[in-house]
Amino acid sequence: MKLLVTGGAGYIGSVVAAQLLEAGHEVTVLDDLSTGHEDAVPRGAAFAHGTIREAAAAVLEEHDIAAVLHFAASSLVGESVADPGKYWSNNLGGTLALLDAMRTAGTPRIVFSSTAAVYGEPERTPIEETDPTRPTSPYGASKVAVDTALTEFARLHGIGAVSLRYFNVAGAQRAADGRWLGERHSPETHLVPNVLAGAGSGEGVRIFGDDYPTPDGTCVRDYIHVTDLADAHLRALGACEPGQHRVYNLGNGAGFSVREVIEVCREVTGHDIPATVAPRRPGDPAVLVASAKRIQADLGWKASRDLRAMVADAWQFSQARR
Ligand code: UDP
Repeated sequence: MKLLVTGGAGYIGSVVAAQLLEAGHEVTVLDDLSTGHEDAVPRGAAFAHGTIREAAAAVLEEHDIAAVLHFAASSLVGESVADPGKYWSNNLGGTLALLDAMRTAGTPRIVFSSTAAVYGEPERTPIEETDPTRPTSPYGASKVAVDTALTEFARLHGIGAVSLRYFNVAGAQRAADGRWLGERHSPETHLVPNVLAGAGSGEGVRIFGDDYPTPDGTCVRDYIHVTDLADAHLRALGACEPGQHRVYNLGNGAGFSVREVIEVCREVTGHDIPATVAPRRPGDPAVLVASAKRIQADLGWKASRDLRAMVADAWQFSQARR
């Protein structure tokens, strides 16, 4: 298939683009490089530099695209609280522009990059797709709004859409050309790259709160390897059916605490990574764990790589970048 990957110069988009190429698809990446890196675009993909608002329509028309995998978004929870307008504009406004461009070009399918942040503070664990969406940040709210739009576009315009709600993505993947594709945000807020950076520099890591109602007092999250996540996108692509909008959680159903993650990082790197306890980070729920039963039942997808594999690959990536 001829595919458009928006945000394909970013962490998850670049890994998915690499897997799509390896599966034999023809890939065009569209990215404005506001947070992505051009050298992360996998070799073999065409690259278009621009925003979805300005450039998506031309790319869709020119390349006769069969489906869009839509990653381009602003994705920092804290920033969204400080600047909600940016999140509504980029995430909802940008996606609406993309959906209109798809209608004009007759592009029938979209796989949308969504997030566990749509659930907010969960009522129960593990979280199922039918649980209420009560986001606690403009970031999560903008992703819920896109889901509403996708449901309407499926019902009224007949597109086929799949939203994938990611829990905590970690790890890295080696592309066919030997390069490592991984996480390099600036500033970096995520736990695994922060712990590994702390190992490399000897500075260690801060634990944001150890007084949560969890077994060791630190927050519990459901970590999933970026390669498993990319595999789910390829399956979702095959599951886009005209007139339907499906929603799937992506996690492995098991939680790890911040302290457990740090311990695995120590084991994998061989470094004695110092950890100091800092105040809670505002807006962090104590436990976020996915039920991924729906995607397993419908598409036969299941996470197969464990936390150790995620940390080991993320460590390889950070070593390769040094
Ligand atoms: N965390 C931490 N120190 C860090 C980064 C994150 O203690 O340097 C904690 C954070 O408070 C949360 C968990 O690790 O409880 C996962 O955070 P991350 O930002 O990786 O993902 P999130 O769950 O917020 O999407």
